[in-house]
Amino acid sequence: MKKKILICDRFSLESLHLLEREDNFEFIKIDPDQLLDSDQLAAAEALLIRSRVSVTAELLKKAKKLQVIITATSGFDHIDLDSTAKWGITVMNTPSANRESAAQLTLTLMLALNQRLLEAHRLTKAGLWRQEHILGTELDGKTWGIVGLGRIGSRVAELARAFRMNVISYDPYLDDEGFERYQAKRVSYEELLKLADVISFHVPKTKETHKMLNASHFEYINREVFLVNTSRGTVIDEESLVKALENRWLRGVALDVYEKEPLPRSSKLLNFPEVILTPHIGAYTEDAFFRASEDAILKLIRFFRDGTTSDTLPPKADWYTGSHFSFV
Ligand code: NAD
Repeated sequence: MKKKILICDRFSLESLHLLEREDNFEFIKIDPDQLLDSDQLAAAEALLIRSRVSVTAELLKKAKKLQVIITATSGFDHIDLDSTAKWGITVMNTPSANRESAAQLTLTLMLALNQRLLEAHRLTKAGLWRQEHILGTELDGKTWGIVGLGRIGSRVAELARAFRMNVISYDPYLDDEGFERYQAKRVSYEELLKLADVISFHVPKTKETHKMLNASHFEYINREVFLVNTSRGTVIDEESLVKALENRWLRGVALDVYEKEPLPRSSKLLNFPEVILTPHIGAYTEDAFFRASEDAILKLIRFFRDGTTSDTLPPKADWYTGSHFSFV
């Protein structure tokens, strides 16, 4: 009997060719929005998804034969991991595929803030020329504060050093060796908020990171700081961020992720012309798309070939304290 695989999002053609070469797979493409009501779900043995599919208890109840879910993403807060554990379903993700893209977006946003790129662009388009108040700064000797020195944070550290910046970091779950490897100085969260000229967040969505930057911190954060968040929107309390922006307590802000996505048209964040906003595109490069597709499909093939697993979820990390699906 062929294994029945439901493919519920876009995967590269090259990666699908890898599946076609295997004799024992039957795969069916399904629109993510139609998965829950699909007749195919009951017979599916594997799901290949990205973040558009929410794997809920309701969905799993219908998928009685499901053995494995592979999400071609690094985030996994769209999957109810308590329920997958209850049903004994193996879950894997592709956390390394987006590392470079997400780190490069973080750099891009910081450089755009630093060079006041949006203002310069608007001036030129309006037929105007240089203006003295639009001055950028140079980066060497400045301090980049990285919150979460994991896959993406550590790559950002490497890129920051290419600009001869000092790197400080707050990551209570990383050992000293990890800090040494990325030549980052370990500091407390408070120190980082006070000392850094650039702060970027690269933490997972957990109860502990929920609104970990909030009104209490904006009271004392460095008033000249550039703030960049490409991790998860829940990390920053948006209401107090808006207040901090109104008070001009921050030099610049760039966000790729939001408390609610897509960003509602009513969001006050849209009112600040100097704030850079992107629509959750940290993994939106051709390279990351191809890499995540291939990684996911190879994981699927290996799983059914000999039971091999890697990057299983929930992650075996000290910071993981349970499924956060309840506040997706
Ligand atoms: P990772 O698991 O490799 O690293 C996370 C790091 O955060 C770890 O080193 C961990 O020790 C640290 N950490 C955990 N809790 C912490 C806390 N309370 N305070 C400080 N540090 C803490 O994850 P990653 O692959 O580097 O991804 C980082 C984030 O970026 C994730 O939230 C991921 O979902 C997100 N992401 C976003 C995009 C995008 O499209 N914008 C793309 C890829 C990843």
